[in-house]
Amino acid sequence: LSGKYPSQRHFPVRPALKSSYDVVIIGGGGHGLAAAYYLAKDWGITNVAVLEKGYLAGGNTARNTTIVRSNYLTPEGVRFYDESRQLFSDLSHELDYNILYSERGHLTLAHNDAAMRTSRWRAEVNKHMGVDSELVYPDEIAKICPQLNLSRDVHHPIEGALYHPPGAIARHDGVAWGYAKGATERGVELHTHTEVTGLKVNNDEVTQVETDRGTIKAGVVLQAVAGMSSEVARMAGLKLPIKTIPLQACVSEPVKPYLDSIVVSGSLHTYVSQSSRGEMVMGSAADPYGLYSTRSTLEFKEDLMMNMLELLPCLASLRVLRQWAGMADMTPDFSPVMGETPLKNYYIDAGWGTWGFKATPVSGKRMAETIATRQVPDLIKPFALSRFERFAQVGERGAASVGH
Ligand code: FAD
Repeated sequence: LSGKYPSQRHFPVRPALKSSYDVVIIGGGGHGLAAAYYLAKDWGITNVAVLEKGYLAGGNTARNTTIVRSNYLTPEGVRFYDESRQLFSDLSHELDYNILYSERGHLTLAHNDAAMRTSRWRAEVNKHMGVDSELVYPDEIAKICPQLNLSRDVHHPIEGALYHPPGAIARHDGVAWGYAKGATERGVELHTHTEVTGLKVNNDEVTQVETDRGTIKAGVVLQAVAGMSSEVARMAGLKLPIKTIPLQACVSEPVKPYLDSIVVSGSLHTYVSQSSRGEMVMGSAADPYGLYSTRSTLEFKEDLMMNMLELLPCLASLRVLRQWAGMADMTPDFSPVMGETPLKNYYIDAGWGTWGFKATPVSGKRMAETIATRQVPDLIKPFALSRFERFAQVGERGAASVGH
């Protein structure tokens, strides 16, 4: 049959593991794959292996609710996420792969004075940084999202909202597959079902990466393993200020296009958008305790539906199609950990918690730049691991959208 049928559509068959690479990336999620793509495309570095213990991008990349926005609270955060949003808006062209990027407008509902104050604060910071955000009141909300229940006769009436017109969704798998395709076309090796089991450190350098398929040498190592960040860092002798907490989500059966806006209520711990497939994609706050598990619970679904039906009673007859969980790598200040570590050739991309899908393009691009130049770009300097020693946290809790 040789030559008659293509052996694969997008990705080369997994090659044998070589004995050494210029760069080894641990974690084949969106972030690891994006870093591999930009290393090859922007810097011509192609002797790169991406090691993924499971199937391609089957971690949080495959489990997230795909919201992209840049209406954060700190100038550092707004600047960073807005670069990502801009990269996202042209990503289908860049990758020649349809990621179904769809600008919907993002409403963060405020149900009390404190939430109104935070919304106003965020709107002002956003505008100052050139990001389109404003505080809107119920009469405007009724025009933006007529499906919302704006009655005063509910537990938590809607007082206003932070409105962010560029807020968007995308096809999460498509983003990872597009980056993987672009990276492998340029010579990067993708090693799925290859688990990193140990790291050998000598004189402040990682000298060997141990895997369940053999040991390899690497000039530089990048760890991008989200929920497993603390565990993999421990192999390198590093202790991270990161706690892994399950985050759950679910989708309804698909219906015709009905809900344009992305609706988030921090007070009710509830958010929803309608995917390009027609499903209502719904999520809630992180679970109340740390756990390395992707099991999903009945409590999550019951709480979520109670609040969802207060906001959007029109969804009452829709059935839930499936539910799942991911493992969110939460930092104390709700900002990521990016850049250098105390080890000379070991770089980190972690602390993506409940917010890292939207950062996939910018983190890949800027981590690739960091590795290629051995210089941390100004854009990601505020997110250095060392900020926790310097008491220089970048507090984004107020912009996390759902409570934690
Ligand atoms: P992952 O996609 O998890 O990739 C890491 C990979 O590392 C995994 O595939 C894992 O198998 C692999 N790995 C782990 N250990 C090893 C090892 N020892 N050896 C080899 N490989 C290893 N973010 C947003 O911006 N917007 C949202 O709307 C949003 N919603 C979310 C909803 C849910 C339910 C969840 C769980 C998360 C959500 N997030 C959201 C967060 C977002 O999903 C993540 O921050 C982001 O996907 C992280 O990408 P990643 O590539 O770093 O991690």
